[in-house]
Amino acid sequence: MAMARIEWRAFRSTLLLLFLLMTPMSEASPCLNCGACCSHFRVSFFWGECASSGGTVPDDLVVQINPSRVAMIGTDQKPARCCSLEGEVGQATSCSIYEQRSSVCREFDSSWSQGEQNVDCDAARAAFGLAPLEAPHFELDLPISA
Ligand code: SF4
Ligand code: SF4
Repeated sequence: MAMARIEWRAFRSTLLLLFLLMTPMSEASPCLNCGACCSHFRVSFFWGECASSGGTVPDDLVVQINPSRVAMIGTDQKPARCCSLEGEVGQATSCSIYEQRSSVCREFDSSWSQGEQNVDCDAARAAFGLAPLEAPHFELDLPISA
């Protein structure tokens, strides 16, 4: 049973690697014409990620929300929109502090980019009338005979 689990994981990793290798650069990031999550959720994180505390996020782009956490300005309100988001949601967007963004931004994966659905990505897109990203379809030419 344990061996079957290991083989399945190895197979799944191989499929993911194949998907990444087969994905053209122009299709690499659906986020470039989305930006919905940056305009939907409160983007909060530990204050220690701010530049003045040794982190990367510029202090003047955050607001304190409790003794230990800050949020990106613009995301602690409704409607939300991060102050660092540039462009138009659903058209063309980018993050003006991409290299300095917080861990919560770095760890938020678009659906299927890591081989799994992200329901929060789907929810953010839905809030802007955008369809959920589709799971990749594989068409592999495998030899029929063993
Ligand atoms: S909602 Fe999903 S696809 Fe859109 S920018 Fe965020 S992670 Fe990317
Ligand atoms: S810092 Fe950048 S990635 Fe994070 S929510 Fe704002 S625009 Fe999005």
